[in-house]
Amino acid sequence: MADTLNERHLQTALKTYFGYDNFRGQQQHIIENVLTGNDTLVIMPTGGGKSICFQLPATLLKGVTLVISPLIALMKDQVDGLNANGIKAAFFNSSQDASEQNEIINSIITAELKLIYVAPESLQGLENILKETYISCIAIDEAHCISSWGHDFRPSYQQLGFLKKTLPNTPIIALTATADKATRQDIIEQLRIPNAQQFISSFDRKNIELEVRPADGRANQIIRFIKQRPNESGIVYCLSRKNTETIAKKLNENGINTDAYHAGLSFNDRTRVQEDFIFDKTQVVCATVAFGMGIDKSNVRWVIHHNMPKNIEGYYQEIGRSGRDGLKANALLFHSYADVIQLRKFASGASNEEVQIAKLERMKQFSEATTCRRKILLSYFGELLEDNCGNCDVCKNPPQFFDGTIFAQKILSTIKRVKEQEATGTIIDVLRGARNATILEKALDKVKTFGIGNDVSWKHWQHYTIQLINQGMCEIAFHKNNALRLTEFSNKILFNGLKVFLTHPIEIKEKLKTTKEAKRTPSNSLFERLRKLRYKIALEENIPAYLIFNDATLKEMEQLRPMSADEFLTISGVGQRKLEVYGDEFIAEILDFMGSKIKKPKKTETHLLTYELYKSGLSIEDISIKRKLKTPTIYSHIAKLYFDGKDVNIYDFISKSDVEAVHQAKIELSNTQSLKEYFEYFNEQMDYFKIRLALSVIDKEER
Ligand code: ADP
Ligand code: ZN
Repeated sequence: MADTLNERHLQTALKTYFGYDNFRGQQQHIIENVLTGNDTLVIMPTGGGKSICFQLPATLLKGVTLVISPLIALMKDQVDGLNANGIKAAFFNSSQDASEQNEIINSIITAELKLIYVAPESLQGLENILKETYISCIAIDEAHCISSWGHDFRPSYQQLGFLKKTLPNTPIIALTATADKATRQDIIEQLRIPNAQQFISSFDRKNIELEVRPADGRANQIIRFIKQRPNESGIVYCLSRKNTETIAKKLNENGINTDAYHAGLSFNDRTRVQEDFIFDKTQVVCATVAFGMGIDKSNVRWVIHHNMPKNIEGYYQEIGRSGRDGLKANALLFHSYADVIQLRKFASGASNEEVQIAKLERMKQFSEATTCRRKILLSYFGELLEDNCGNCDVCKNPPQFFDGTIFAQKILSTIKRVKEQEATGTIIDVLRGARNATILEKALDKVKTFGIGNDVSWKHWQHYTIQLINQGMCEIAFHKNNALRLTEFSNKILFNGLKVFLTHPIEIKEKLKTTKEAKRTPSNSLFERLRKLRYKIALEENIPAYLIFNDATLKEMEQLRPMSADEFLTISGVGQRKLEVYGDEFIAEILDFMGSKIKKPKKTETHLLTYELYKSGLSIEDISIKRKLKTPTIYSHIAKLYFDGKDVNIYDFISKSDVEAVHQAKIELSNTQSLKEYFEYFNEQMDYFKIRLALSVIDKEER
């Protein structure tokens, strides 16, 4: 064990398998603890880097690591990611047939697999191999699901206590992003790991810029925001299903590729929306909070809250889905009183109404803050930040206070004269001397302050009134039609000379940024070219683009421009396997970008290597094993070889009738190049590799 714990050993594994040079935060200590055989509890925010804490030990341990995970989508993503890194992993579930399941069980017995993912409901199927001879470590991902205190409670997680009984000497590592003490205690008790060492990381996600804006004209603000970020993926969270659809429609009308997502959609539709987003086929998803759990997509660049979330936990979890790769990300929240009122209505009558209202109140305070927002967020999670963060709107644009006593007196005096019976809108109408139906009906034009504020805009009055509410100088009577009422401070301001300090509304200077930002990612930049190459390969291999290389890795390639295999391996995120599989193509792209002045090193193209093996008589499966590439990739080589006129017996792999069917589809689909369209045309019944092979036959004939 001492040998395994050798620090250099760990560093080497980190680079070889994951391509990273340094551990993040407490990762190394956590991994050491697991390898020593101790139980471990890891609390780390979303995107903090939890997976490596059990995936890296798994590569070093003799047997198999059993990973309990709640969602199939999550498992699939992680398994794809591991295999892309050359680590053998699989998942086990009820959708697989008996022979598939047996094969997996065999590869556990022969210790061929390093990690096996399973949902608690399917654990029973693995009964026979739940033995210490086979299993060397157990990881419980999303461990908060065990607790009925938590927000994602899953009853089946509660039976997991039996694991410690059955495998008493196997270390358990439980991981979650939920921090509260009750949940933590529950996890430890139910998993029977009282001596687990706890690693609680900072919840600060420094790379996420925080911003709150008033909700005026939010649809247009959102459109402008997205247009500044042409190729960046993002999520717009909305309060209602209807909202998700109307916003999605508006965005599409403005040329932004958007889907709506909510619980009212069919299972198939939800799966499609999620997949297209993960595969970078749609740029934006407008969603209710149902969207996001189970999405590990590391290149979500921004999250917008069209409506205010009901508490800070939810808000933090949702914005945490952006910037997992550690690059700059944006969280933009729109704040409106209408939302607060709506959320109060939802909460009222709930069994824990008081708790819900108190949490909403904290959310509201965050939205209205005039001090560093990150300090407020982190203090909510019990963490104190010494300095202001410098990466929130308040830090970047500190509010300028002025003596607003006169404005305050005008507002408060109006509230008093309408006998504390009217809501904000009517108060402002009176101040501005509006003669609308309500005012005339109620004879409010006779009020003494009518029209005394007609030199100030509606927006400004609203901004001032909200600040008075925030500072406790008047209040909203939520149960009385949201009428504004005076407080004990009000009279001091009206009669005793108490001064009030206010800020002006901030003008959003988006236009200026637009040109600057647009220049940042010109469509012909190296980053864009690498991104397109990544997308092409992702389609070929049928895995999400970010699993090939994340954005941070592409950025580093753009900066360092590696031109040889050795240089390529120094890039963070490039491990041994990714160098072997993708190195040539990416290096070629970089060389090409840098112009033909630099001589390209002579190298054998990857499909030609496949050709040699093919000519020596190996089957596709054998070539795939030998080259450590997926079979679809080998088939794509075969397709290219055939198209290039090499000696390939294409009809060994595809029937004439399949070629004819694809030919027919090609005509009906107006010659589309998108394999996905063909796949859908055949109701997902024709494999991608067959479509590709058939197209190479057809294209060759048509050439
Ligand atoms: P979590 O499960 O905590 O939400 P992940 O394990 O998905 O987070 O990690 C988030 C991202 O950070 C992934 O893209 C991962 O590859 C990356 N990452 C993890 N550890 C490191 C590290 N030591 N150096 C650089 N990137 C890392
Ligand atoms: Zn700040």
